[in-house]
Amino acid sequence: MSLTGFSQSDKPNQVVFKNVKVFDGTSDKLSATTEVLVEGNMIKEISSSASRNASKDATVIDGGGRVLMPGLSDTHIHASFASLPLPDLLAGDPSYNYIRSTVDARDMLMRGITTIRDLGGNPFGLKKAIDEGLIPGPRIYPSGAVISQTAGHADFRFPNQRNPKHGGEWAAVYTEGYGMLADGVPEVLTAAREQLRKGASQVKITTGGGYSSPSDPLMGIQYTFDEIKAAVDVAANWGTYVTIHSYFPESINMSIDAGIKDVAHGQLLDKATLERMAREGVSLSTQPFTECSEPQLSAFSNEKLAIVCEGTKKMYQWASEIPDLLITYGTDFFNVPQDVFKEQTKQMERLLPWFEPVEILKMATGNAGELYKKSGPIMNPYPGDLGVVKPGAYTDILLVEGNPLKDLSAVTNQDNLLIIMKDGKIYKNTIK
Ligand SMILES: [Zn+2]
Repeated sequence: MSLTGFSQSDKPNQVVFKNVKVFDGTSDKLSATTEVLVEGNMIKEISSSASRNASKDATVIDGGGRVLMPGLSDTHIHASFASLPLPDLLAGDPSYNYIRSTVDARDMLMRGITTIRDLGGNPFGLKKAIDEGLIPGPRIYPSGAVISQTAGHADFRFPNQRNPKHGGEWAAVYTEGYGMLADGVPEVLTAAREQLRKGASQVKITTGGGYSSPSDPLMGIQYTFDEIKAAVDVAANWGTYVTIHSYFPESINMSIDAGIKDVAHGQLLDKATLERMAREGVSLSTQPFTECSEPQLSAFSNEKLAIVCEGTKKMYQWASEIPDLLITYGTDFFNVPQDVFKEQTKQMERLLPWFEPVEILKMATGNAGELYKKSGPIMNPYPGDLGVVKPGAYTDILLVEGNPLKDLSAVTNQDNLLIIMKDGKIYKNTIK
């Protein structure tokens, strides 16, 4: 039964998909026509005779020769304020903001996104409600508050606001748990522990300038080695990792020296650092920032964005030449208008100048699943396999019209998503 009235079927015991070709999230090719047996929230068997092992009351779906594939991931999103207008984030009613995030979560799921990694915000209540089945939405790997130094990328104070640690007031972005200002090793230790206490599956810190933030230079290093190492040590004690907001090599190399395991931007990286990342198992969760100005940004921010945007093209070219580099797909959407938010999967097509469709699909499926495993045995909220279609993996799957390995619109056009299934529940089925 759905508590929300949102149309979804009851949890099926067993479902058999007959007559499907499988893209499994890791291979370069589709399988031969086969059958996939799903039991509860796990994939049980993939073989041409899987239906023979199904129970008598299993639901049978004829895939009509179409492609069955893993649900998609956005590995860099801010689910608390993805499409929330900036004024609401800064000074709106938190109860409205939370409700809005539930609508965003549903919209993401209906785009075929079955898992997200939240890289800053307070999505813990949203995650709990989704996991309990109260509302539809993707699985969430939360970071909790973005941890930033004073004058860093998550210092969103206006020029007239005094430092809250020195007589000023904490703005809503801090009191609502979206960001945390921490300076010096003891404060960084506390800030990282605060996020883990809430259930963060990884810790996000800012170690270089950002383009949207009002006061930090793009190429300025943020945090010292010891402060970064402090966050890394806290995460490692609970078996998980630190991901960083940063664009450029000097900052990223220092962060890797300190032990971080994922770079959440990297648009200004050079080839040597990308090769180092591949060698040392540091993943790249970057975004196609290929639009070089945004109307809602200040002139200072657009100047910074233009530099990031130019770097993006070179970085993707070099990254595409390094086979062992783990790259995942992400949008970094926050405060975006609805017409941009709707492009959450469509932006995969921006990568086509550098990557084959199958490589792009892997970034949003199997590669993302590998990234999630970095959260380790203690803090990983979903310890099974994600982003893959194989026995034992979660049943987060899509049945799509068209061959996505030839044409990405088979997944980026929402009309082509005929079945969306997450954790054993069917949220959309237009072939019945
Ligand atoms: Zn971000």
